[in-house]
Amino acid sequence: MRFFVAREQIVGNEVTLVGSDVSHIRTVLRLKAGDSIQVISDSGQCLTVRLVEVNTKEVKGEITASATINVESPLAVHLGQALIKGNKFDVILRKSVELGVRSITPLMTERCVVKTNRTEGKVERWKKIALESCKQCGRSQVPEVAKNIETLETFCRENEHQDLKLVFWELEEKKTLKDIKPDVQPDSVAVLIGPEGGFSLAEIERAGQYGFQTVSLGPRILRAETAPVVALALLQSLWGDL
Ligand code: SAH
Repeated sequence: MRFFVAREQIVGNEVTLVGSDVSHIRTVLRLKAGDSIQVISDSGQCLTVRLVEVNTKEVKGEITASATINVESPLAVHLGQALIKGNKFDVILRKSVELGVRSITPLMTERCVVKTNRTEGKVERWKKIALESCKQCGRSQVPEVAKNIETLETFCRENEHQDLKLVFWELEEKKTLKDIKPDVQPDSVAVLIGPEGGFSLAEIERAGQYGFQTVSLGPRILRAETAPVVALALLQSLWGDL
């Protein structure tokens, strides 16, 4: 278990933990003064912190060792993921953080079953899930979760500059990721994954106008929550760090 701290929580050699981290340390891990924890700073330092004071409001400790960590992939994957039902979007979020995604943008597309554009509370929750996943998998850089639910077109426009632009489409029969042979190793890729009902032809064409090429994930139709996991694993394997 690693704890994440912001810059202002570190003063000189002293680290202060507050909020839910305090109850986690006291009641879940049952740690006391003298015990050590691993803390990740927002500048990507992994700190070993020996606890000095543990009370109900805050936990204070001193840094005994520090190391620079880098578990960030050289390939920046920007995922445009159509909203899907229930908690499946949360599942995608967690798994894509584990697989090193750089940013996630929830999309409202034509065939989304979820119809609400209301974002109140949702984005905050998603950000929290992304942070929790980072803690679990040891990432120091928390992926960006877009502030709003976007349209496909906005995502395409905002990602026009990425090295590769891919729209995963079950009706693409020929081209798989192996067939994409960029001249130079790509540093960034924008990825579109559709909802339960898939993308409409109009959406595929619209994405094409922004330079997104259709790609297949094989002859079987994957569930909406499986597709991004497979796509990310393959992309990281081809051009990232897997
Ligand atoms: N409604 C479609 C399936 C949609 S699956 C049908 O039943 O025919 C949800 C999303 O996963 C798709 O929009 C696509 O982005 C991705 N996907 C699933 N299987 C795929 C495959 N074999 N190739 C490429 N993309 C796939």
